[in-house]
Amino acid sequence: MGLRSGGLAPLPEGFVSVGNSVSHAEGNPSVPGAGGGSARVPAADSIRGLLPWLRRQGSSVEAVLLDVDGVLTLSHRALPGSRALVEWLRREGMPFVLLTNDGSNSAAEKLADLRAAGLPFEPWELISSGHALAAVVAERGWAGAAFFRMGLLGEPCYAEAAGLRVITDPERIGCCRGILIGERPYDWESAVAAALNHLPAYPDTPVVVPNPDIFFPLAEGRVHPASGAIAAFLQLLCRARGVEVEPLYLGKPFRPIFAHAQRALESRFGRAIARERMLMVGDSLSGDIAGGHAYGCRTALVLTGVTRAAQLARSKVRPDVVFEGLAV
Ligand SMILES: [Mg+2]
Repeated sequence: MGLRSGGLAPLPEGFVSVGNSVSHAEGNPSVPGAGGGSARVPAADSIRGLLPWLRRQGSSVEAVLLDVDGVLTLSHRALPGSRALVEWLRREGMPFVLLTNDGSNSAAEKLADLRAAGLPFEPWELISSGHALAAVVAERGWAGAAFFRMGLLGEPCYAEAAGLRVITDPERIGCCRGILIGERPYDWESAVAAALNHLPAYPDTPVVVPNPDIFFPLAEGRVHPASGAIAAFLQLLCRARGVEVEPLYLGKPFRPIFAHAQRALESRFGRAIARERMLMVGDSLSGDIAGGHAYGCRTALVLTGVTRAAQLARSKVRPDVVFEGLAV
């Protein structure tokens, strides 16, 4: 059940709803939504499994970016074919990383979750929206700066790993260089109020949002608000006070997480990897597929997560290829 069909408030401008996965795709200049792909969508029964297709691609695919939730796992359980796919990637020596927007769990927490599902990975093989923070901190010269953090960004904290000093007391927002929006239960009302009263006086304060998603799926079709929703809420409130806040989003569909993944793969394997030979495999049209195309990757949609075939038929975001699952 998406937000629109749930009868809640309309999504702010710049958001699209794709089943349970909602993020900023269309309307953002950095992310092509409509027409972003090459619109080569085979019939669902013509290519059923990703792995048999991938075996036939030869050198046209040089690296694979794998979304986690809805692709490898669902509700903490391995999806059919996920182990076979990972075993094949390792056996072939095909460079790959896991690419997740989940910045509220640390890499160690996410890896433990995958291991419990029977999918062990090395720490370097997982890239989350939190990891992309390090490059942004370095590029902008923020190392050592204090940032006011709403919620959590993993334990240990991605922000501290990136070189930021973290302040969580809303009373101390005045001494912070920027604002970071994380997740998990916290006193969001006090945090938003602090930011709302700080930003009109200091409108150049950067607002960094690792996970752009406005909610994440729970069991039984339920959803929970995510950090993108808090960012949009803050943006709406600030606009009413005459201040335009442009959050810096790091996760899919935005560029920083893809750039981080490409750098990590090239560094690990010691060679350049062309974007058009990178394959983004995901279950979300607005995050994985729109983001993959915006970065210049080929894209593969699997129908095992948040996107149903009927939604794909209505969507303007077109993956290059579509699969019923990983190894059907
Ligand atoms: Mg997913």
